[in-house]
Amino acid sequence: MDVSNTQSSVHSKAEAPSSSNMKTEEIIGLESKFASGVYSKRPIAIVRGEGARLWDSEGREYIDCVGGQGSANVGHANPEVIQAVKDQIARLTVATELFFNDQRAALMDRLVRIAPLGINRIFLCNSGAEAVEGAIKIARYHTKRTEIIAMMRGFHGRTMGALSATWDPKYREPFEPLVPDFRHIPFNNLDRAEKLIGEKTAAVLTEVVQGEGGVRPVYMDFIHGIEKLCRERGALLIIDEVQTGFGRTGKMFALEHFNISPDLVSVAKSLAGGLPMGAVLISDQIRPLEPQMHGTTFGGNPVLCAAARAALNFIIRRNLPEQAAVLGRFMLDRLARIRSPLIREIRGMGLMIGIELKMKVTPILQALMDNGVLALPAGPNVLRLLPPLVIERRDLEIVAAKLEEVLPKTGSPVVEENRHE
Ligand code: PMP
Repeated sequence: MDVSNTQSSVHSKAEAPSSSNMKTEEIIGLESKFASGVYSKRPIAIVRGEGARLWDSEGREYIDCVGGQGSANVGHANPEVIQAVKDQIARLTVATELFFNDQRAALMDRLVRIAPLGINRIFLCNSGAEAVEGAIKIARYHTKRTEIIAMMRGFHGRTMGALSATWDPKYREPFEPLVPDFRHIPFNNLDRAEKLIGEKTAAVLTEVVQGEGGVRPVYMDFIHGIEKLCRERGALLIIDEVQTGFGRTGKMFALEHFNISPDLVSVAKSLAGGLPMGAVLISDQIRPLEPQMHGTTFGGNPVLCAAARAALNFIIRRNLPEQAAVLGRFMLDRLARIRSPLIREIRGMGLMIGIELKMKVTPILQALMDNGVLALPAGPNVLRLLPPLVIERRDLEIVAAKLEEVLPKTGSPVVEENRHE
């Protein structure tokens, strides 16, 4: 076979220039042409980050309150994560869980030490959805039951099991039929939980602050009631900390605000300093899993484990949970001083903040971006802030001032019915 010919045919198309010299139109043009289409993107190309700041391909600087959708708690280009990745990638890039590994062993030890009480085992994977999948499978295996009860407005990811637990019909309907025996109850309504949790229920799965569903903290009575019902009726409690974990809400895990002891906890996002890693934290109440029953090639990858160790050390040494609590209180107070008829409610925990508007959030996000602030939606009318936890107070002050500035200019209040309500 003529190899040179084969190669030249593979490479015959003109290749894109390296990222450092690509123009904005080229970047946007190529992605628009070749990407699957599942993301609606904003028309800027992010090419650099540091701490809580991002830069686009035109050199414009932004204060980042998207924070990689919650995966950038330790800040962009964190020097300690960079060093750990560099060192480990040069030493050993791949070692699957067919073998033991020093970085993985040390990470598991670290994770169990910081995890909620009773957690004593870890399953490592690659994303939030996969952590939720793992937790669902473990719950079904452990209880020999099938039903999973999740919450209205809950979000748990896009793979078929995690999607079956996710509530919003717009994510679910195109892919039905989903996994059987998933049911949804109203968040914070204990009467419905009391009626539904029964002898078929393998687990109740919930966030303690709903993220995508609008930044809604759980009520203390509700989560304690759920925990009690689970114990009484032989169901497990799974807490999804994918978005709330690793300091985001002012504690290492949001469930610490509520003093509960779940059987399984799903984590991901900020676990490995922004690199893709998830984990199921498994309590000592769960019977041991059997060899081969679950797994994933990249789970426990040594480079990712090294990154996670560096990220966790950074979070602990810099006391980021406490910092998030202090900055979150400051920001909630500051936002409360904004006098605008467009604001319906401001809520949050730590640096997970939702500003519910009486209008659609999209024009506000656009106006903020034009003013150098990147923020997220959480449903049609909630503006969500998830900045890196290393953000400085003066940057939060600027974010609040910009919001104050753009709110009145974006139109009169239109009372949008939130279709989740
Ligand atoms: N659970 C929660 C609570 C989430 O917020 C998310 C992502 N937004 C997921 C699960 C899914 O995580 P991933 O996108 O990493 O699959």
